[in-house]
Amino acid sequence: MLGARLLRRHGQQAWARGAGRRYSARIPESDRLSRMLLPTRKAAKGQQPGDGSPAQTTTDMLVKAGYVCQSSAGIYTLMPLAQRVVDKIEAIIDVEMRRVGGQKLAMPTLLSPENWRRTGRLDSTGEELFSFKDRRGSTVLLGPTHEEEVTAIVRDMVRSYRQYPLRLYQTTRKFRDEARPRAGLLRGREFIMKDMYSFDVTREQAIASFDALEAAYRRCFDRIGVPYAVADADSGNIGGSLSKEFHFVSGAGEDTLLACGGCGYTANEERAHSTAGAQCGGVGVYSVGVRAGGRAVARGRVVVAAEHEPSALKLRQALPVAARERLEIALVGTHGAGQGAELGRALAGDGPWFLDACAARRLPADSAPAAAAAATGDWHVARAGDVCGACGRGRLEARRAVEVGHIFYLGDKYSRALDLTTLHQGQRTHVQMGCYGIGVSRILQAVAECCGGGGRGLRWPLSIAPYRAVVVPLDGADRAGEVYAALAETRVAGVPALRGQVAVDDRDYLSAGFRLHDAQMLGIPVTVVMGRRFADESVVEVQLRVPMLALPAEVAGVAVEHDGHECRALVRIERLGEFLGLALAGHARQLGAAADELP
Ligand code: ATP
Ligand code: MG
Repeated sequence: MLGARLLRRHGQQAWARGAGRRYSARIPESDRLSRMLLPTRKAAKGQQPGDGSPAQTTTDMLVKAGYVCQSSAGIYTLMPLAQRVVDKIEAIIDVEMRRVGGQKLAMPTLLSPENWRRTGRLDSTGEELFSFKDRRGSTVLLGPTHEEEVTAIVRDMVRSYRQYPLRLYQTTRKFRDEARPRAGLLRGREFIMKDMYSFDVTREQAIASFDALEAAYRRCFDRIGVPYAVADADSGNIGGSLSKEFHFVSGAGEDTLLACGGCGYTANEERAHSTAGAQCGGVGVYSVGVRAGGRAVARGRVVVAAEHEPSALKLRQALPVAARERLEIALVGTHGAGQGAELGRALAGDGPWFLDACAARRLPADSAPAAAAAATGDWHVARAGDVCGACGRGRLEARRAVEVGHIFYLGDKYSRALDLTTLHQGQRTHVQMGCYGIGVSRILQAVAECCGGGGRGLRWPLSIAPYRAVVVPLDGADRAGEVYAALAETRVAGVPALRGQVAVDDRDYLSAGFRLHDAQMLGIPVTVVMGRRFADESVVEVQLRVPMLALPAEVAGVAVEHDGHECRALVRIERLGEFLGLALAGHARQLGAAADELP
């Protein structure tokens, strides 16, 4: 038991009995902050919301606002408010996955390594794979992804080609022993992912599945309402040839996208194509080899323009490099204009060689015979400032971004390794697959990164906010039920968009200052403060913290103040619904109630 003094001291975290007793029975217990495990913390001394303190990371904000708490490196508990955000993200995804025929299942977290051995990923995944021994001494894997498992299930369960196309998905925890877990939920070692797998009989049908899923992903991200970019991507370890990444543009991201200001072409820098760099004149010659078990084997040479670097990824696609081999690229020499003879000698060395098209234009005339024998292509890493490879006119610009989704056409990589075939038109063929991931817990933090306002607290889009509105009754608490009801009845574009989405901060054991500070940190889109003017004139202060909200200086005849992060307006309670309905009308797409849209 906590003594009375201790209870007072820890009041903000304690489960204060009887708090909110004055509140109307119209407000269900589940919508009262006094009944919620919401361990908000005061800002550090000298730090106030509003001072834009740069020391505050998004993870700090999520912890201080009571959304998450860290258990160990890269491992977090989602507190009740964060779980509400996750539930909303999942609800949006569920609607869109079902719309394209997705069937939800739940595969095990504990996986047998046998299928992983057959696909070669037991070795190639390396130290990222969590594994342990069971009591019989057998190895057990903690699932980092489920291509192997789902392929084996379909192989054992599907009898006829008529059962395809098949689209199966789940939303589960994944485990990856990341070398550098970072930024809270952005790169966790345990995280939530939605993963879908498609199975088709022909390549054409598999590409149609890929296209359907790309459209479904676009709808998911449109609904979330945070601007996103779709990039051509490297398909990495999962294999295959067609893949796209969905990104939120944010300085917190670990990826760099190159985007053309002219035609809109966007690609991960690892894979982007450019036709020319900023002209420097010279070229660089590099040796290319592979190393396995301490032994190095030369594989040729690559020549790129001096301002570029050779791309290991593009070379790996052209050279056979086994999972256990490492590609090694080393600079042999750089050659300026007029050093033709020297360059000719360098190129006479180990072949075959790869000539980058940007470099080819700079080779001196006397290297023409060697150039004719080279594999000319795109072998460089594109950079900001390069000429776009898609339109040949615009320049590429770099942007940091967080990958939140990734879709792949896999072909028969897994069906071949695990023997998933079907008999179609008299022929036995391997089933064509695709896989499609969305980082659910990563989205929570990425949205907080993109939409939050520096040290000024979080700001959730209406689509995934834990609640859409919160009432803060500082004066006239016994009338909080009236405000709660007015919000529940508010219609935006004809829909009661806030119903079931309104919380009341009835923690009247906390000071007014503390509760106002919390309202700012929590980032719930609509905050309605019942202050002094409420008792006399029934006027509330409406605070809107809605990302991408553009409001005129007057809405429904009410003056609105806007400071770039939030809007404030004084509104009479009987006009509250009309005011909010108009203010939020532009965000109707984000408000679409997921459950109502089920086909
Ligand atoms: P990254 O390059 O960021 O490591 P990945 O290519 O390994 O991502 P996928 O295997 O394609 O990721 O997983 C699908 C999605 O799962 C990713 O788009 C991302 O949103 C999410 N994800 C991947 N790894 C993590 C992680 N460690 N923590 C949180 N989310 C993750
Ligand atoms: Mg990864």
